[in-house]
Amino acid sequence: ETHTLSGRVEFKNVDFIYPDTGIHALKNVSFSINPGEKLAIIGRTGSGKSTLANILLRMYDVSNGEVLIDGKNIKLLNLNDFRSQTGFVPQDVFLFSDTIAHNIAFGQDTVNMNDVEQAAKNAAVYNNIMEFENQFETFIGERGITLSGGQKQRVSIARAIINSPKLLIFDDSLSAVDTKTEESILRNLGKIMQGKTSIIIAHRVSTIKNSDKILVLDDGKIIEQGKHEEL
Ligand code: ATP
Repeated sequence: ETHTLSGRVEFKNVDFIYPDTGIHALKNVSFSINPGEKLAIIGRTGSGKSTLANILLRMYDVSNGEVLIDGKNIKLLNLNDFRSQTGFVPQDVFLFSDTIAHNIAFGQDTVNMNDVEQAAKNAAVYNNIMEFENQFETFIGERGITLSGGQKQRVSIARAIINSPKLLIFDDSLSAVDTKTEESILRNLGKIMQGKTSIIIAHRVSTIKNSDKILVLDDGKIIEQGKHEEL
């Protein structure tokens, strides 16, 4: 049966070495997030932020230590179950050569236009889409129109939130949107993610100021951990 995630995440002394390059990308990383908390991760380029997100999504297994979700080792979770309750916006947004509606509903069993539109509104991309002649039926990619970087990010955000995930992970997902748009997306997320866990990897201070906890990574290590006011 499906285990409904409560969204508690714990890293215990996690080390990760990329097998192909030997790069030691995470070093003794420990932290925890309670259900419903908003965690922000910042740090220089190459400090290990994306690696941490990818480990949490089980794209790789840890080299040492453990990752627990709701107290259970991530290796023992049913991956489909876990991923179906997780929303992820990767750093390199991936869109298909298909309609905007299908891109947003990707991974859903059916395309429910109410859900698609609501997700687009929450991702602050609805108005852009409505300006296109074919609106949600607009073809994007090779055979269609080219979206701007910020529009791509927001379509990807809509895709990640359409099924009301219990855990949401943004890998630098607001880098191409202006601060005003960012603010409205974060406000919407605050509502839809109430009581659910979110992890936002960011560069700008504006993105992280309302987080419950901030991790600062440097060279694979957590060098600071705390609230915005404490750092
Ligand atoms: P950025 O802010 O630039 O996205 P980051 O903090 O997300 O950087 P990572 O992408 O996690 O950093 O990279 C951490 C280290 O791991 C870097 O030294 C990087 O070169 C290395 N690395 C990242 N991805 C891979 C990979 N797929 N294979 C091998 N090494 C990798």
